[in-house]
Amino acid sequence: MRVLVAGGAGFIGGHVCRELLERGHEVICLDNLATGQLANIDEIESHPAFSFVREDVTRTPFLSVDLVLHLASPASPLYYKAHPIDTMLANSAGTHRLAALAADRGARFVFASTSEVYGDPLEHPQQESYWGNVNPVGPRSCYDESKRFGEAMTFEYRRTHGLNASIVRIFNTYGPRMAIDDGRVVPAFIGAALAGEPLPVFGDGLQTRSLCYVSDLVEALLLVAFDGNANGRVFNLGNPHEVTMLELARAVSDAAGSQTGIVFSEAAADDPSRRRPDITRMQERYGWQPIVGLADGLRQTVDYFSDLAQDRVAVASEAA
Ligand code: NAD
Ligand code: UDP
Repeated sequence: MRVLVAGGAGFIGGHVCRELLERGHEVICLDNLATGQLANIDEIESHPAFSFVREDVTRTPFLSVDLVLHLASPASPLYYKAHPIDTMLANSAGTHRLAALAADRGARFVFASTSEVYGDPLEHPQQESYWGNVNPVGPRSCYDESKRFGEAMTFEYRRTHGLNASIVRIFNTYGPRMAIDDGRVVPAFIGAALAGEPLPVFGDGLQTRSLCYVSDLVEALLLVAFDGNANGRVFNLGNPHEVTMLELARAVSDAAGSQTGIVFSEAAADDPSRRRPDITRMQERYGWQPIVGLADGLRQTVDYFSDLAQDRVAVASEAA
């Protein structure tokens, strides 16, 4: 198949592109490098079935493709709060553009939505049928509400243009190839641990997240993407193992083999207090469930970041 991966130079997108090539597909990666990096695709750049288009998703050329994966959006609260309008456009005008392209080419379309559509959830764990509890005008609304708009756009294209489309709601995912300065909690904690600094916990650290290792996430995403019979379906993708941020800080310290303590700062506004996916739909339809545990996934992520830091030191000392 010929697959367009919008946001393919990002953390998840880079893993998706590599996996698609390994499975024998042709991949067109489109990215404006807002939060992505060419380093995420450097190993596949010269692959004969891979091509890279540096462009904004809202201006995606109408290429002939069989499958469109829309991953092009900032995902880090630090970044999207600093670039709210770009974030809203990527998920609104960007979704419009890609849905129109897919409908025009008869391609299947998958929109990467988020657990943030549930906001600060009043139901726990969150099932796909839950409509959410979102502040429409808060500091996170540029992300939450544009993802909700993107979901609506995706389904209206189904209804009005016969688009074959699914939505995946991704819960916190982590792993190698995240940017160390991304601002999300796993790179922030690992970066601090490796620098010998205390881990920065926002608020009292009792808020929870359920963290999914990237290989499990990619497996799930591609199960949905290649299932043409999943048209009109919405799936939670994530790992239901729920931890507080204090527990996560301890797990990162253990994985990094360093005990540098914790520094508390003010809670982020509208920070959801808890989050855990109900993944029954994915389990029942595909028999899928995550297989990488938190300790194992964090160890692999710590190894990645510490190798990267050592490479940087080696390059700097060669240049000196
Ligand atoms: P990321 O920031 O690493 O990747 C996003 C990619 O999209 C980057 O390469 C960025 O340059 C690109 N991009 C952003 N705006 C663009 C635009 N206007 N035009 C073209 N490219 C653009 O983040 P990620 O964690 O890999 O997230 C990928 C997708 O998954 C996003 O849509 C995100 O909302 C969704 N998601 C991720 C998580 C997670 O925990 N990682 C959770 C929920 C949803
Ligand atoms: N967080 C933290 N320290 C950081 C970054 C994040 O304590 O340096 C907390 C944040 O307040 C939230 C959780 O970790 O409760 C997850 O934040 P992240 O930005 O990774 O993703 P979110 O789920 O909020 O989109």
